[in-house]
Amino acid sequence: MKVLVINCGSSSLKYQLINMENEESLAQGLVERIGIEGSVLTQKVPGKDKYIIEQPMADHKDAIKLVLEALVDETHGVIASMDEISAVGHRVVHGGEKYAESVLINDEVMASLEECVKLAPLHNPANIIGINACKSLMPSTPMVAVFDTAFHQTMPKTAYIYPLPYELYENHGIRKYGFHGTSHKFVSAECAKMLGKDIKDVKIITCHLGNGASLAAIKNGQCVDTSMGFTPLEGIAMGTRCGNIDPAIVTFLQKECNMSAAEVDNLMNKKSGVFGISGVSSDFRDIEDAAAQGNERAILALDVFNYRVREMIGAYAAAMGGVDAVVFTAGLGENAIETRLDICKGLEFLGIELDAEKNNVRGKAREISKDGAKVKAFVIPTNEELVIARDTKALTV
Ligand code: ADP
Repeated sequence: MKVLVINCGSSSLKYQLINMENEESLAQGLVERIGIEGSVLTQKVPGKDKYIIEQPMADHKDAIKLVLEALVDETHGVIASMDEISAVGHRVVHGGEKYAESVLINDEVMASLEECVKLAPLHNPANIIGINACKSLMPSTPMVAVFDTAFHQTMPKTAYIYPLPYELYENHGIRKYGFHGTSHKFVSAECAKMLGKDIKDVKIITCHLGNGASLAAIKNGQCVDTSMGFTPLEGIAMGTRCGNIDPAIVTFLQKECNMSAAEVDNLMNKKSGVFGISGVSSDFRDIEDAAAQGNERAILALDVFNYRVREMIGAYAAAMGGVDAVVFTAGLGENAIETRLDICKGLEFLGIELDAEKNNVRGKAREISKDGAKVKAFVIPTNEELVIARDTKALTV
């Protein structure tokens, strides 16, 4: 069985074709600049040259048509015909309170996704467009929606209710939802395997540190808290997002700096985080380089980031009444050796101690804690596409 995984953004689309017999990735690709000048598809197939198609793509339907053509291309493709694709799994950012699990897409599901647009106005519309485009090109292929929010639906009310008038929750769904759920789910399950324990018997803190970043507290296999909230803006500092700040800053900026709601939104999402503090870049590699050359704001940006992650690890150990393992994943978590060391400095009192030599690893699953440390620490590469493909298989065969 072969499953096509689609992750649709507003002007881009990532895809992967996975052979579910051995869970191997057959091809992966990225379409960029959909609907704008300079549209381009890049496909990578193990053992073959990179395949690049530059041609105008007016919309997501054009883009998906081209993805299917690339996959069946005689020279660069990996399948003989579209019929080999048994099912399509779509990443959907927001499933609201309705979806605690992945779901087979039908008309009722599509209507629910529309209802969730108001909760994720930047993401869900693109996801819906992607699903509709696929449905029109592959009308008889089953499709599954896999939600970023689903894994966090097990959070208790004490964790997800904000101290705001309760009617805002009842009337507008204002509550903590959490994101990166497929990643937290995947790495926590892998972590339990590496511990040689049943996930139902362990307390794990997962740190998904990429451009967007979030932590999750996972007790006995269930998420009990996570750092992102109503939107992916809450939580720790990120590449360009501010994370937790005093909410009064928002009205201060509006009143004192004459900023509109849209301008404040843009400032908090696009101009803040380590980019805002350093003024250098949102990419941690650039900031690390600047810090190494003595740039004080770059050093401060890294310190603030690491402090906020450390604080959250402490908070989640308290939320769960202890912790057995900490996992680092995503671009930064998997690759930034110094960042992991810095984050864990000062957490020895909890039993978290990294082994500098074991921690000298990038992009590979490995235990990185000192021998005998009370809390085990791991680097575990995430694989959100595989979770989407597994759920898609489970719901369609
Ligand atoms: P997203 O999917 O949220 O866009 P990723 O998980 O791909 O993000 O992570 C991207 C981030 O990972 C980049 O901002 C980059 O700074 C960081 N990163 C990737 N490789 C390294 C590395 N070798 N050292 C430090 N940071 C890295």
